[in-house]
Parts: sequence; C-alpha cells; structure tokens
Amino acid sequence: MTKPVVAIVGRPNVGKSTIFNRIVGERVAIVEDMPGVTRDRLYSKGEWLNRDFNLIDTGGIELGDEPLLVQMREQAELAIKEADVIVFIVNGKEGITGADQEVAKLLFRSKKPVVLGVNKIDNPEMREELYEFYSLGIGEPYPISGSHGLGLGDLLDAVIEYFPEDDGDDYDEETIRISLIGRPNVGKSSLVNAMLGEERVIVSNIPGTTRDAIDTPFTKDEQKYVLIDTAGMRKRGKVYESTEKYSVLRSLKAIERSNVVLIVINAEEGIIEQDKKIAGYAHEAGRAVIIVVNKWDTVVKDDKTMQNFEQKIRDEFLFLSYAPVLFLSAKTKQRLQFVLPAVNKVAENHLLRVQTHVLNDVIMDAVAMNPTPTDKGKRLRISYVTQVAVAPPTFVFFVNEPELMHFSYQRFLENKLRATFEFEGTPIKILARKKN
Ligand code: GDP
Ligand code: GDP
Repeated sequence: MTKPVVAIVGRPNVGKSTIFNRIVGERVAIVEDMPGVTRDRLYSKGEWLNRDFNLIDTGGIELGDEPLLVQMREQAELAIKEADVIVFIVNGKEGITGADQEVAKLLFRSKKPVVLGVNKIDNPEMREELYEFYSLGIGEPYPISGSHGLGLGDLLDAVIEYFPEDDGDDYDEETIRISLIGRPNVGKSSLVNAMLGEERVIVSNIPGTTRDAIDTPFTKDEQKYVLIDTAGMRKRGKVYESTEKYSVLRSLKAIERSNVVLIVINAEEGIIEQDKKIAGYAHEAGRAVIIVVNKWDTVVKDDKTMQNFEQKIRDEFLFLSYAPVLFLSAKTKQRLQFVLPAVNKVAENHLLRVQTHVLNDVIMDAVAMNPTPTDKGKRLRISYVTQVAVAPPTFVFFVNEPELMHFSYQRFLENKLRATFEFEGTPIKILARKKN
C-alpha cells in the first residue's frame, strides 16, 4: 500500500523544482482542475514505467533565514529519513561547490540509494563536464536538462531500480486503518489517547516494539483497527519537523497507509489554509474521510453554533462535501463515542460495490431527467456504466465522446449516485471511456 518516496535534494537554483515539475507535470494539471483543492509543489505523485511513487522537493521546505549549509544539511537529513531513493541534483554549468561536497558526504554516510543528476546539460557537447562529478563519490552522474526535459528517463530508470519490493503492511483486510491528520496542536495525540482510553477498547501489545511502534493496533467490539503513525503525531523538535510543511509531509505518508482519514480541526482557531491543503491530499488519495472538529469544549455556544460551524466547513472544503462532520472534545470526551461508529460506516461505504444492472438503471433514469450535454452539435451518449473498483468506488462510463463529459455533468451524475447509494464519507471516481 505504501508508495516508495523519492526525494530531490540540491542547492538552490540547480533546477530542483524544474525537474520536479517535469516529473509530476501532467498529473498536477489534472488535479488542479478540481475546484477547492489548493496545493503546493512540495510533494506530489510521480509515475515511471507503471511504478507509482511520491516525490518530495526538499527545496520547497522553508527553513527561514538559516545559512545555506544548515539548510542543505536539514534537507539532506529529511531526505535521508523519509525517502527510499534520493535524487541529488548538481549544476553541470557551475561544477562542484563546497555545499555539494558537504551534502554528498551526508548522503554517502546514510547508505541510502542516491542517484546523481547533473542538471543544465542542455546539449551533448556539454557532457565533458560530467567527469568531475564522479569525484563526489556517489556513483554515476546522469546528465539531464530539466528545462529541456532531456535525460530524465535514464535518471528515473536508475531511481526505480532502487525501489524496495512491495512488502505491504502486516494488517489483514478486516483491519480498519485510521490516520489522524491536522496541523500541530489541533489535538491529534490527545484524541488518540482518548480513543484508546475508551471503554471496551483493547490495545494490542506488540512485544518489544511498544515504545517506538509507529502504529497502534487495537480492537473494539471485535472490530480490529490500527491507528497509523501514532509515533509521528507525538514527534516534535528539529527545525524541519516544526515547520508546517513538514507536518504535511508526515501526514501524507499516513494518509497513504490508511483506509479512513480523520481530518482534525481546532474549533478554537477555525479553519486555516493549511487545513485545506491537508484535506485536499486526503481527498486526492481517495481515502474515506471524516472531519473532526476538536476542542468543542472551548467554544461558547448557542443553538446555532454547530450549524454555523458546519456551514463554514462546507464552504471551505467544497471538495469534501461527502465527509461527515463530528464535533467533539478530546479533553471532556464529549461525543467521543461517535468516532468509531462513524469510522465503521465510512469504511463500509468506501468498499461498497453496486450491481451493474442496478447502476445502469439509476444512471439511465438520471439521464432521462437531465439530458446529457452537447457541444458543437454533438451530444454525449452514455452506453453503459460499470463499477471497476472500490476504495474508493470507481465508475467507468462508456460513452461516444469522453470530452463531452463535462465537469458539471459529472458532478450531476455523482450526486445522483450519492442520492441513491450509501456513499457518505467516501470519494467517488467517475471516468469516461470511449466505447469502441
Ligand atoms: P531550484 O532552486 O533548485 O528548485 O531551481 P529551479 O528549478 O527554480 O531552477 C533555477 C533556474 O535554473 C531557473 O532559472 C531555471 O529556469 C533554470 N534551469 C533549470 N533547469 C535547467 C536546465 O536544464 N538548463 C538550464 N540552462 N537552466 C535550467
Ligand atoms: P497535536 O499536536 O495535534 O497532537 O495536539 P495535542 O494532542 O498535543 O494537543 C495540543 C494541545 O491542545 C494540548 O495542550 C492539549 O491538552 C490541548 N487539547 C487537545 N484536545 C483538546 C480538547 O478537546 N479541548 C481542549 N480544551 N484542549 C485540548
């Protein structure tokens, strides 16, 4: 379930973000079509030869006014800790600098696989410049040109060579994997402790690993759960770990490994941009989502407060209209008992499979009520629909012209599916394919 992580490190201006954008390019464009999803280019999905991975541009981590060497060291450290493969970018036009040597030393000592990309080699004559980079001691230098898109294929070939075999997770299919994500201080670890302290919750003891165990498995009413990355929630310190972006990075890994994501918001502070960003990632990852408004005890309330707060959430998280919202307090334990039942429900919906004939009946009815769009005299025709996947439920519409499936009509179809079937808490994917 976990995708390999590839981190790009290198001095400022060597071309990291240019290369990052090249690698993730098309995917980002697709995602940006989605209203309400804000994103930065720090962390994104990449794909090469059918291998999916997550790509981090460590240059995107803001480290304030630290001197270059300190920043470089922090970035390298982050990459060493988080990545399966590190892509080290240097500038072929400038040659090796002291900072390059410093980073090379750190990377070498880490024993992590490193692929060295020598950027700004814009034409073949410049390949002469390559040889000096062998002296960095981290193997073969790959000539690339980020701005011209040259050499990236060979570089990526080398990167995926190093991907670990998919070892999967040790949890069985019935175990619901829950992650809690949100900014620092919203109350994630308090919630975890509160949930684990609930009645009838039995926390499994894994011999020997309890102290630094990343995950916390537990059982309640015979349902098995695991809280993903409990250790990460408690971690503090280091410059980069206290930056907002780092906490996003950490969350992303947890999201990937979970079925159900609890997006935790602090009722005291309301919703800020970073909350939206984090929520956007959960949505994109296709996980079941519950929005948890914690610290509800701190809010002075009247009979409209909850309703108003929920409206604010709906306005801010347009793309999460399907996610249920829970208002609770880790401190007073108010409404804590609703969390696991909600988790069970959305986990079930995430796996819901609709029979093909029922599905087609519903869609044909919908089309009869609201005719398909036309464009330049052509009308979208839907021949049939089939559900091709669960987690999240994914529907393929076979049509005459996929381009005619506009976003607004897709939204209409999604709403119809949601009105008919139990999809609360889960995203739905709708794909249009040309019928042959
Ligand atoms: P970062 O700071 O490492 O992320 O570097 P950027 O990606 O922002 O690039 C820094 C500068 O180098 C920009 O002006 C880019 O246009 C330029 N650049 C990036 N890749 C190449 C390349 O392959 N060849 C040349 N000539 N310039 C490049
Ligand atoms: P995390 O950084 O998201 O894991 O947040 P913590 O669990 O460490 O909580 C941050 C602070 O908020 C701590 O001082 C908690 O005691 C406090 N806190 C957490 N949950 C609640 C709550 O429901 N109500 C109130 N009043 N305080 C809370």
